[in-house]
Amino acid sequence: MIAIVGGGPGGLTLARILHLHGIAPVVYERDASGDARSQGSMLDLHTETGQAALRAAGLEREFLAAARREGQDLRMLDHTGTLLLQEDTPDDAPMLRPEIDRADLRDLLLGSIPAQTVRWGSAFTHAEAQPGGGYVLHFADGSTATCDLLVGADGANSRVRPLLTSAEPTYTGKCLVQSAIHDADRTQPELAAMVGRGNLWVFGPDRLLGGQRNGNGTISVSISIQGPPDLDSATATDLPDGWAPQFRRLLAACDEPFVVRPAYILPIGMTWPRRSGVTLLGDAAHLMPSVGEGANQAMLDAAELGRAIAAHPDDLDAALEQYEPAMFARTAATAEMSAEVAELMTGPDAAQKVLRFFGAVG
Ligand SMILES: Cc1cc2nc3c(=O)[nH]c(=O)nc-3n(C[C@H](O)[C@H](O)[C@H](O)COP(=O)(O)OP(=O)(O)OC[C@H]3O[C@@H](n4cnc5c(N)ncnc54)[C@H](O)[C@@H]3O)c2cc1C
Repeated sequence: MIAIVGGGPGGLTLARILHLHGIAPVVYERDASGDARSQGSMLDLHTETGQAALRAAGLEREFLAAARREGQDLRMLDHTGTLLLQEDTPDDAPMLRPEIDRADLRDLLLGSIPAQTVRWGSAFTHAEAQPGGGYVLHFADGSTATCDLLVGADGANSRVRPLLTSAEPTYTGKCLVQSAIHDADRTQPELAAMVGRGNLWVFGPDRLLGGQRNGNGTISVSISIQGPPDLDSATATDLPDGWAPQFRRLLAACDEPFVVRPAYILPIGMTWPRRSGVTLLGDAAHLMPSVGEGANQAMLDAAELGRAIAAHPDDLDAALEQYEPAMFARTAATAEMSAEVAELMTGPDAAQKVLRFFGAVG
């Protein structure tokens, strides 16, 4: 039996792919149900990674129907309101990096596996190896289960990870401070028009203000800023002198309390010695700066692990031998690139660095 801890994009993609291969895993998810909490904003899924995983999962058509091509639009401004770059997506543009609401992606994946696959309300706490192979899993409600292979797909603060490595995420020095404006076209039409159909990035000397249109008419608003991990949200939302008034209005229009999310990463290139019967995928394995790669890599991990298990259903160690070295190499390179992009987006000259990256200035 294969146990997947965590029903995020990675864990559910693996469950779907195993299901396609006639293998019935169990997903242990701590959320009480599929709609127990807001899934957050949008994910852009790339052709060669997240979308490749959805192709392997037989869900590409459904994804393309749910994804928003125009979500690829980008407007870059500086804090005085000067437009630096505008990229509007033509109606016939390829779906290279379309955006999908996280909730729509979760629904798509959940709808593609038998309902009994996911055991909701199962908060995994720890596991111990069984003498004959496999693991006994323990949950917060005192229940237990057994498995032959334990896959930790339980995100940044993985409880499965300590079985494989003592490495822990470290703080990047940056926080993301997030809120939202609901029903924005009706309640705040000018601000909704400023954000447009996709992404708005406003570069200030010491922070990056973001606006992102979700599929349901909500606009997600965020500020990325350096500071301590216990930053007070007001430190981010009180814009210093020099910021144009429309950006203050964008923040004032937010109708949810601002939530501070300190950003953590795992060491780039982290690996672990092979251990029979247990592995990791997604953020649990390679938490990286959030520049649009994490979910894509988690889903590709799932596709590759699913393919490896399907190729070696009776020899799960051989499946891990096929999966882990390739995953380590791929995600180390992506984490390196993500760290470089995160660095580009930091500092008083961030706008110029990003414009050069986009080839918009010499
Ligand atoms: C603001 C922001 C924007 C982002 N935008 C993008 C983007 O556009 N594109 C992109 O590719 N990536 C993006 N990312 C990164 C992306 O969100 C993550 O990399 C991705 O969600 C990782 O997927 P996962 O399945 O590994 O883990 P998660 O999505 O974290 O899922 C883990 C699951 O495990 C469950 N769980 C956790 N602990 C336990 C436990 N003990 N027992 C049982 N269940 C448990 C959780 O409830 C959750 O459902 C963004 C991240 C942030 C913060």
